[in-house]
Amino acid sequence: MSQADHSPSNFIRQIIDEDLASGKHQSVQTRFPPEPNGYLHIGHAKSICLNFGIAEHYQGKCNLRFDDTNPEKESVEYVESIKRDVQWLGFEWSGDIHYSSDYFEQLYGYAVELIEKGLAYVDELTPEQIREYRGTLTSPGRNSPYRDRPVEENLALFTRMRNGEFAEGTACLRAKIDMASSFMVMRDPVIYRVRFAHHHQTGDKWCIYPMYDFTHCISDALEGITHSLCTLEFQDNRRLYDWVLDNISIDCHPRQYEFSRLNLEYTVMSKRKLNQLVTDGHVQGWNDPRMPTISGLRRRGYTPASIREFCRRIGVTKQDNTVEMGMLEACIRDDLNENAPRAMAVLRPVRLVIENLADGHEEILKAPNHPNKPEMGEREIPFTREILIDEADFREEANKKYKRLVLGKEVRLRNAYVIKAERVEKDDAGNITTIYCSYDPDTLGKDPADGRKVKGVIHWVSASHGVPAEVRLYDRLFSVPNPGAADSFEAALNPASLQVLEHAVVEPSLAAAPAERAYQFEREGYFCRDSESGVLVFNLTVALRDSWGKEGA
Ligand code: ATP
Ligand code: MG
Repeated sequence: MSQADHSPSNFIRQIIDEDLASGKHQSVQTRFPPEPNGYLHIGHAKSICLNFGIAEHYQGKCNLRFDDTNPEKESVEYVESIKRDVQWLGFEWSGDIHYSSDYFEQLYGYAVELIEKGLAYVDELTPEQIREYRGTLTSPGRNSPYRDRPVEENLALFTRMRNGEFAEGTACLRAKIDMASSFMVMRDPVIYRVRFAHHHQTGDKWCIYPMYDFTHCISDALEGITHSLCTLEFQDNRRLYDWVLDNISIDCHPRQYEFSRLNLEYTVMSKRKLNQLVTDGHVQGWNDPRMPTISGLRRRGYTPASIREFCRRIGVTKQDNTVEMGMLEACIRDDLNENAPRAMAVLRPVRLVIENLADGHEEILKAPNHPNKPEMGEREIPFTREILIDEADFREEANKKYKRLVLGKEVRLRNAYVIKAERVEKDDAGNITTIYCSYDPDTLGKDPADGRKVKGVIHWVSASHGVPAEVRLYDRLFSVPNPGAADSFEAALNPASLQVLEHAVVEPSLAAAPAERAYQFEREGYFCRDSESGVLVFNLTVALRDSWGKEGA
């Protein structure tokens, strides 16, 4: 059974079920059509899981098509990142990759056909005038004075546009539909404009480029797409989608269906805004672990399965809504709780000396990689006279609720022995520099023989064998739930979204940790090795428990 079969049905699947039952279609062909003008984000993952998931479920096909009609904003770097992200999510596109630019010659031909049918004209109004003539939602537009040019003149002018005889903004091709339509997109939409721009796929071959609405429907039809799935803001554009296909000689007429886009709290999801965060230096790049991009989530330790599970849980509907960040985090937490190996790391170390161990004492202890999965094996942990524990795990005095190490009391060292804090040493400022302890040699893997109860367990690392590391803790990127709605979304950035702990120490086995593979640092959270750092750096993937919005939790 494929993963998609675990997904609940939705209104789009119901439509497909009916189309297959009625014999309208024998097989299903979808596509994922990103514009290569940025990296993919978690919203795109929803569209990817939907389109590729449907193809898997119905044993159909899903194309990857780059909708590349805006050369100035696009690049090969984006193309490559998108391919990588789709594959990483675990999906395979059908056949070769497609580009809308593969169809530029055919698209040009269909534009000529519209001109010949008297359904398109070359307009020489300026872009400002075109906007002015378009009218508003409450008032109809006006016809351009160039609207009724003879076909021959339009054909000649369009050829001259292609030949580079018009400067940008001095001529465009418009569909001749209805300047009084209640759908703004139907008021003689521009379908070609002049751009002297180098294109990442077609080089300098073209200086006119087709617009999205004209390109998308024809590309879908040329690829034999059966169900063209897009987000709700394209609802009105469906009129134009159908108008173009109804008015050119093409056999295939895919049907467009719209679903609601994913919005996530405390982040932004538009590529334009994400790009701005990168160029303005608010983050370290598109794959900064705080970014809602697929590559950012990957670098943060998210697994493909967790993102697919998230998309399954949010479902596909026509209702606009905003999903809580906690929902995404729950998916990775559930995955890692099951699958992440355990390890010990001390984020804010303080020195602890076990005085009844000999200098140079070294003992190799074994610890399971997962508490309930023996098949995940075990690892070796060196136990020495000097160890490091976390500052927060020791207090000179504490009440009974504090289940860690307290002066004069006992605690268990995780995977090792019971120790008792005897005394502390402080510096001139009163900070604890060393905790002196004794240990009970008869408590490895068992309770004290005399029935003493030791409830607390703390983690630790050998001071001499531990490996220094930097740990990066992440919080939400923005301080408000809907930064996109703020006047300046950059002003809503959370100044404390990254906290760097430079003096962490991790158990020796973590020195060989592969990048992007998350571990549970016991009692601390899930962390993965950073893929962009030469030295040992760990990124917080997610906390152990949902502390989202809970102060000080
Ligand atoms: P953005 O506004 O982030 O730039 P876009 O729609 O311009 O997004 P495209 O590259 O054109 O980005 O999107 C490719 C596909 O992904 C489209 O079918 C689009 O509808 C879908 N998509 C984009 N954002 C979301 C989202 N937040 N939720 C669901 N699907 C999305
Ligand atoms: Mg787009």
